[in-house]
Amino acid sequence: MPSLDVVVKEIADEMRRRTERGEVASYIPELARVDPAAFGIAVIDATGNIAVAGDSETPFSIQSISKVFTLTLALGKVGDRLWRRVGREPSGSSFNSIVQLERECGIPRNPFINAGAIAVTDLILSGHQPREALGEILRFMQFLADDPTITIDKAVAASEQRTGFRNAALANYMKSYGVIENPVEFTLGVYFHHCAIAMTCRQLAMAGRFLVHAGLNPSTGARVVSSERARRINAIMLTCGHYDGSGEFAYRVGLPGKSGVGGGILAIAPERASIAVWSPGLDAAGNSHLGRAALEALTKRMGWSIFGA
Ligand code: GLU
Repeated sequence: MPSLDVVVKEIADEMRRRTERGEVASYIPELARVDPAAFGIAVIDATGNIAVAGDSETPFSIQSISKVFTLTLALGKVGDRLWRRVGREPSGSSFNSIVQLERECGIPRNPFINAGAIAVTDLILSGHQPREALGEILRFMQFLADDPTITIDKAVAASEQRTGFRNAALANYMKSYGVIENPVEFTLGVYFHHCAIAMTCRQLAMAGRFLVHAGLNPSTGARVVSSERARRINAIMLTCGHYDGSGEFAYRVGLPGKSGVGGGILAIAPERASIAVWSPGLDAAGNSHLGRAALEALTKRMGWSIFGA
Protein backbone atom coordinates (compact mmCIF):
# COMPACT_ATOMS: atom_id res chain seq x y z
CA MET A 1 0.00 0.00 0.00
CA PRO A 2 1.55 3.38 -1.00
CA SER A 3 2.08 5.98 1.74
CA LEU A 4 -0.92 8.30 2.01
CA ASP A 5 1.33 11.33 2.61
CA VAL A 6 3.33 10.67 -0.55
CA VAL A 7 0.23 10.04 -2.68
CA VAL A 8 -1.50 13.23 -1.46
CA LYS A 9 1.60 15.35 -2.18
CA GLU A 10 2.03 13.79 -5.65
CA ILE A 11 -1.60 14.48 -6.52
CA ALA A 12 -1.36 18.12 -5.38
CA ASP A 13 1.76 18.56 -7.57
CA GLU A 14 -0.01 16.99 -10.56
CA MET A 15 -3.05 19.22 -10.10
CA ARG A 16 -0.88 22.34 -9.82
CA ARG A 17 0.58 21.59 -13.26
CA ARG A 18 -2.80 21.10 -14.98
CA THR A 19 -3.82 23.95 -17.28
CA GLU A 20 -7.48 22.99 -17.80
CA ARG A 21 -9.13 24.04 -14.51
CA GLY A 22 -12.83 24.71 -15.39
CA GLU A 23 -14.72 27.96 -14.74
CA VAL A 24 -15.16 29.65 -11.37
CA ALA A 25 -18.87 30.14 -10.48
CA SER A 26 -19.94 33.70 -11.17
CA TYR A 27 -23.72 33.63 -10.65
CA ILE A 28 -22.98 34.41 -6.99
CA PRO A 29 -20.84 37.54 -7.59
CA GLU A 30 -18.73 37.14 -4.45
CA LEU A 31 -17.60 33.63 -5.51
CA ALA A 32 -16.20 35.02 -8.79
CA ARG A 33 -13.46 36.78 -6.79
CA VAL A 34 -11.80 33.52 -5.72
CA ASP A 35 -8.36 32.64 -7.17
CA PRO A 36 -8.92 29.96 -9.88
CA ALA A 37 -5.38 28.60 -9.31
CA ALA A 38 -6.14 27.46 -5.75
CA PHE A 39 -5.99 23.74 -4.96
CA GLY A 40 -6.17 22.11 -1.54
CA ILE A 41 -6.61 18.58 -0.23
CA ALA A 42 -6.92 16.99 3.24
CA VAL A 43 -7.33 13.28 3.93
CA ILE A 44 -7.98 11.79 7.38
CA ASP A 45 -7.59 8.04 7.45
CA ALA A 46 -9.38 5.58 9.75
CA THR A 47 -6.67 5.79 12.41
CA GLY A 48 -6.85 9.60 12.50
CA ASN A 49 -3.68 10.36 10.51
CA ILE A 50 -4.04 13.56 8.48
CA ALA A 51 -2.35 14.09 5.12
CA VAL A 52 -2.64 17.58 3.62
CA ALA A 53 -1.24 19.41 0.60
CA GLY A 54 -1.69 22.66 -1.32
CA ASP A 55 -4.10 25.28 0.02
CA SER A 56 -5.53 22.94 2.63
CA GLU A 57 -5.65 25.68 5.31
CA THR A 58 -7.42 28.32 3.20
CA PRO A 59 -11.13 28.74 4.05
CA PHE A 60 -13.50 28.49 1.08
CA SER A 61 -17.26 28.70 0.67
CA ILE A 62 -18.62 25.19 1.26
CA GLN A 63 -21.93 26.02 -0.48
CA SER A 64 -23.87 22.82 -1.23
CA ILE A 65 -21.58 20.61 0.85
CA SER A 66 -23.51 22.10 3.80
CA LYS A 67 -26.51 20.11 2.53
CA VAL A 68 -24.99 16.87 3.88
CA PHE A 69 -25.03 18.37 7.35
CA THR A 70 -28.47 20.00 7.13
CA LEU A 71 -29.86 16.66 5.94
CA THR A 72 -28.24 14.97 8.96
CA LEU A 73 -29.72 17.57 11.34
CA ALA A 74 -33.18 17.45 9.77
CA LEU A 75 -33.27 13.63 9.92
CA GLY A 76 -32.38 13.92 13.60
CA LYS A 77 -35.24 16.32 14.08
CA VAL A 78 -38.09 14.68 12.14
CA GLY A 79 -36.76 11.22 11.23
CA ASP A 80 -38.25 9.44 8.24
CA ARG A 81 -41.10 11.97 8.04
CA LEU A 82 -38.58 14.03 6.05
CA TRP A 83 -39.19 11.74 3.07
CA ARG A 84 -42.78 12.95 2.79
CA ARG A 85 -41.46 16.31 1.68
CA VAL A 86 -38.37 15.35 -0.31
CA GLY A 87 -37.59 12.36 -2.54
CA ARG A 88 -34.33 10.40 -2.68
CA GLU A 89 -33.82 9.68 -6.36
CA PRO A 90 -31.10 11.18 -8.56
CA SER A 91 -32.48 14.14 -10.47
CA GLY A 92 -30.62 13.87 -13.77
CA SER A 93 -31.17 17.61 -14.14
CA SER A 94 -29.24 20.70 -13.12
CA PHE A 95 -28.87 21.75 -9.49
CA ASN A 96 -31.36 24.61 -9.76
CA SER A 97 -33.88 23.14 -12.22
CA ILE A 98 -37.46 24.40 -11.98
CA VAL A 99 -39.02 22.16 -14.67
CA GLN A 100 -38.78 18.94 -12.65
CA LEU A 101 -40.36 20.57 -9.62
CA GLU A 102 -43.40 21.55 -11.64
CA ARG A 103 -43.81 18.07 -13.09
CA GLU A 104 -43.55 16.50 -9.63
CA CYS A 105 -46.02 18.77 -7.83
CA GLY A 106 -43.56 20.73 -5.73
CA ILE A 107 -41.81 17.69 -4.19
CA PRO A 108 -38.05 17.96 -4.89
CA ARG A 109 -36.31 14.85 -6.22
CA ASN A 110 -33.68 14.69 -3.48
CA PRO A 111 -32.25 16.69 -0.55
CA PHE A 112 -29.12 17.79 -2.44
CA ILE A 113 -30.58 19.68 -5.40
CA ASN A 114 -31.36 23.29 -4.44
CA ALA A 115 -35.12 22.79 -4.10
CA GLY A 116 -34.63 19.74 -1.86
CA ALA A 117 -32.07 21.49 0.32
CA ILE A 118 -34.35 24.51 0.72
CA ALA A 119 -37.16 22.17 1.86
CA VAL A 120 -34.75 20.51 4.35
CA THR A 121 -33.70 23.93 5.68
CA ASP A 122 -37.37 24.78 6.15
CA LEU A 123 -37.80 21.66 8.33
CA ILE A 124 -34.88 22.72 10.54
CA LEU A 125 -36.31 26.23 10.79
CA SER A 126 -39.83 25.22 11.87
CA GLY A 127 -40.46 26.15 15.50
CA HIS A 128 -37.39 28.42 15.62
CA GLN A 129 -36.29 31.91 14.68
CA PRO A 130 -33.95 32.02 11.64
CA ARG A 131 -31.06 33.10 13.89
CA GLU A 132 -31.57 30.07 16.17
CA ALA A 133 -31.78 27.62 13.25
CA LEU A 134 -28.62 29.04 11.71
CA GLY A 135 -26.83 28.92 15.07
CA GLU A 136 -27.78 25.25 15.40
CA ILE A 137 -26.36 24.43 11.95
CA LEU A 138 -23.13 26.35 12.58
CA ARG A 139 -22.62 24.78 16.03
CA PHE A 140 -23.17 21.33 14.50
CA MET A 141 -20.38 22.00 11.98
CA GLN A 142 -18.07 23.29 14.72
CA PHE A 143 -18.81 20.24 16.87
CA LEU A 144 -18.18 17.76 14.04
CA ALA A 145 -14.97 19.49 12.95
CA ASP A 146 -13.92 19.95 16.58
CA ASP A 147 -13.23 23.60 15.77
CA PRO A 148 -15.18 26.54 17.26
CA THR A 149 -13.54 29.04 14.88
CA ILE A 150 -15.65 28.04 11.85
CA THR A 151 -17.79 31.00 10.71
CA ILE A 152 -20.18 32.18 8.04
CA ASP A 153 -18.82 34.44 5.28
CA LYS A 154 -21.37 37.24 5.51
CA ALA A 155 -20.25 38.83 2.22
CA VAL A 156 -20.99 35.58 0.34
CA ALA A 157 -24.38 35.20 2.06
CA ALA A 158 -25.32 38.82 1.23
CA SER A 159 -24.13 38.37 -2.35
CA GLU A 160 -26.40 35.36 -2.83
CA GLN A 161 -29.29 37.01 -1.01
CA ARG A 162 -29.10 39.89 -3.52
CA THR A 163 -28.97 37.67 -6.60
CA GLY A 164 -30.67 34.36 -5.66
CA PHE A 165 -33.75 34.91 -7.81
CA ARG A 166 -33.90 31.34 -9.02
CA ASN A 167 -33.75 29.91 -5.52
CA ALA A 168 -36.50 32.35 -4.56
CA ALA A 169 -38.56 31.01 -7.48
CA LEU A 170 -38.00 27.40 -6.31
CA ALA A 171 -38.96 28.28 -2.73
CA ASN A 172 -42.09 30.18 -3.78
CA TYR A 173 -43.11 27.35 -6.05
CA MET A 174 -42.80 24.83 -3.20
CA LYS A 175 -44.64 27.21 -0.88
CA SER A 176 -47.60 27.15 -3.28
CA TYR A 177 -47.77 23.37 -2.70
CA GLY A 178 -47.40 23.69 1.09
CA VAL A 179 -43.95 22.04 1.00
CA ILE A 180 -42.44 25.14 2.68
CA GLU A 181 -44.00 26.00 6.07
CA ASN A 182 -42.16 29.15 7.05
CA PRO A 183 -42.09 32.57 5.37
CA VAL A 184 -40.06 32.09 2.17
CA GLU A 185 -37.65 34.93 3.02
CA PHE A 186 -36.84 33.31 6.40
CA THR A 187 -36.17 29.88 4.88
CA LEU A 188 -34.05 31.36 2.09
CA GLY A 189 -32.13 33.52 4.57
CA VAL A 190 -31.11 30.44 6.57
CA TYR A 191 -30.33 28.51 3.36
CA PHE A 192 -28.09 31.24 1.89
CA HIS A 193 -26.25 31.60 5.18
CA HIS A 194 -25.54 27.90 5.70
CA CYS A 195 -24.29 27.69 2.11
CA ALA A 196 -21.94 30.58 2.99
CA ILE A 197 -20.17 28.71 5.82
CA ALA A 198 -16.43 28.98 5.15
CA MET A 199 -14.16 26.03 5.98
CA THR A 200 -10.73 24.75 5.14
CA CYS A 201 -10.14 21.32 3.59
CA ARG A 202 -8.82 20.13 6.95
CA GLN A 203 -11.94 21.31 8.83
CA LEU A 204 -14.24 19.76 6.24
CA ALA A 205 -12.46 16.41 6.29
CA MET A 206 -12.74 16.46 10.10
CA ALA A 207 -16.49 17.15 9.87
CA GLY A 208 -17.00 14.18 7.53
CA ARG A 209 -15.47 11.59 9.85
CA PHE A 210 -18.77 10.40 11.35
CA LEU A 211 -19.75 9.11 7.90
CA VAL A 212 -16.52 7.07 7.74
CA HIS A 213 -17.05 5.56 11.18
CA ALA A 214 -20.66 4.31 10.89
CA GLY A 215 -22.09 7.37 12.63
CA LEU A 216 -19.50 7.75 15.44
CA ASN A 217 -17.33 10.79 16.07
CA PRO A 218 -13.96 9.01 16.39
CA SER A 219 -12.31 11.63 18.62
CA THR A 220 -14.93 11.43 21.37
CA GLY A 221 -16.62 8.10 20.62
CA ALA A 222 -19.93 10.04 20.71
CA ARG A 223 -22.63 8.80 18.40
CA VAL A 224 -23.68 11.47 15.88
CA VAL A 225 -26.20 9.27 14.01
CA SER A 226 -27.05 5.57 13.95
CA SER A 227 -24.96 3.34 11.68
CA GLU A 228 -28.04 2.79 9.52
CA ARG A 229 -28.48 6.53 9.05
CA ALA A 230 -24.80 7.06 8.23
CA ARG A 231 -25.03 4.31 5.60
CA ARG A 232 -28.08 5.93 4.06
CA ILE A 233 -26.59 9.42 3.98
CA ASN A 234 -23.59 7.92 2.18
CA ALA A 235 -25.97 6.24 -0.29
CA ILE A 236 -27.66 9.56 -1.08
CA MET A 237 -24.26 11.23 -1.50
CA LEU A 238 -23.29 8.54 -4.00
CA THR A 239 -26.48 8.75 -6.06
CA CYS A 240 -27.29 12.48 -5.78
CA GLY A 241 -24.19 14.32 -4.50
CA HIS A 242 -23.04 15.71 -7.84
CA TYR A 243 -26.34 16.72 -9.46
CA ASP A 244 -26.49 15.54 -13.08
CA GLY A 245 -22.80 14.60 -12.78
CA SER A 246 -23.46 11.97 -10.08
CA GLY A 247 -23.17 8.99 -12.43
CA GLU A 248 -19.88 10.26 -13.82
CA PHE A 249 -18.51 10.84 -10.31
CA ALA A 250 -19.46 7.29 -9.24
CA TYR A 251 -17.90 5.93 -12.45
CA ARG A 252 -14.61 7.81 -12.09
CA VAL A 253 -14.16 8.11 -8.32
CA GLY A 254 -16.37 5.39 -6.82
CA LEU A 255 -17.08 7.09 -3.48
CA PRO A 256 -20.04 8.88 -1.87
CA GLY A 257 -19.32 12.58 -2.37
CA LYS A 258 -20.93 16.00 -2.19
CA SER A 259 -19.80 18.97 -4.22
CA GLY A 260 -20.43 22.71 -3.85
CA VAL A 261 -20.19 25.55 -6.36
CA GLY A 262 -17.42 27.04 -4.24
CA GLY A 263 -15.28 24.24 -5.75
CA GLY A 264 -15.15 21.95 -2.72
CA ILE A 265 -15.94 18.23 -2.59
CA LEU A 266 -16.32 16.10 0.54
CA ALA A 267 -15.86 12.40 -0.25
CA ILE A 268 -16.24 9.46 2.12
CA ALA A 269 -14.40 6.15 1.86
CA PRO A 270 -16.40 4.16 4.45
CA GLU A 271 -14.15 2.68 7.17
CA ARG A 272 -11.14 4.17 5.39
CA ALA A 273 -11.02 7.94 5.06
CA SER A 274 -12.71 11.32 5.02
CA ILE A 275 -11.42 13.44 2.15
CA ALA A 276 -11.91 17.13 1.33
CA VAL A 277 -10.63 18.72 -1.87
CA TRP A 278 -10.98 22.26 -3.14
CA SER A 279 -10.35 23.81 -6.53
CA PRO A 280 -12.70 26.63 -7.57
CA GLY A 281 -12.94 25.90 -11.33
CA LEU A 282 -16.13 23.98 -12.16
CA ASP A 283 -17.24 21.68 -14.97
CA ALA A 284 -20.52 22.09 -16.89
CA ALA A 285 -22.54 20.33 -14.16
CA GLY A 286 -21.22 22.74 -11.50
CA ASN A 287 -18.75 20.34 -9.86
CA SER A 288 -15.06 21.03 -9.19
CA HIS A 289 -13.07 19.97 -12.26
CA LEU A 290 -9.72 19.37 -10.57
CA GLY A 291 -11.40 18.25 -7.34
CA ARG A 292 -12.87 15.28 -9.14
CA ALA A 293 -9.64 14.58 -11.02
CA ALA A 294 -7.75 14.56 -7.71
CA LEU A 295 -10.25 12.19 -6.10
CA GLU A 296 -10.12 9.90 -9.11
CA ALA A 297 -6.33 9.69 -8.80
CA LEU A 298 -6.51 9.20 -5.01
CA THR A 299 -9.04 6.35 -5.04
CA LYS A 300 -7.20 4.63 -7.85
CA ARG A 301 -3.79 4.78 -6.13
CA MET A 302 -5.11 3.88 -2.67
CA GLY A 303 -7.58 1.23 -3.93
CA TRP A 304 -10.41 3.01 -2.08
CA SER A 305 -13.30 2.83 -4.56
CA ILE A 306 -16.31 1.19 -2.89
CA PHE A 307 -16.69 -0.86 -6.08
CA GLY A 308 -13.36 -2.65 -5.68
CA ALA A 309 -9.66 -1.88 -6.03
N1 GLU B 1 -25.90 28.37 -2.64
C1 GLU B 1 -25.81 27.76 -3.93
C2 GLU B 1 -27.10 27.93 -4.69
O1 GLU B 1 -28.12 27.79 -4.11
C3 GLU B 1 -25.46 26.31 -3.75
C4 GLU B 1 -25.30 25.55 -5.06
C5 GLU B 1 -24.15 24.57 -5.05
O2 GLU B 1 -23.23 24.68 -4.25
O3 GLU B 1 -24.16 23.66 -5.88
O4 GLU B 1 -27.13 28.20 -5.85
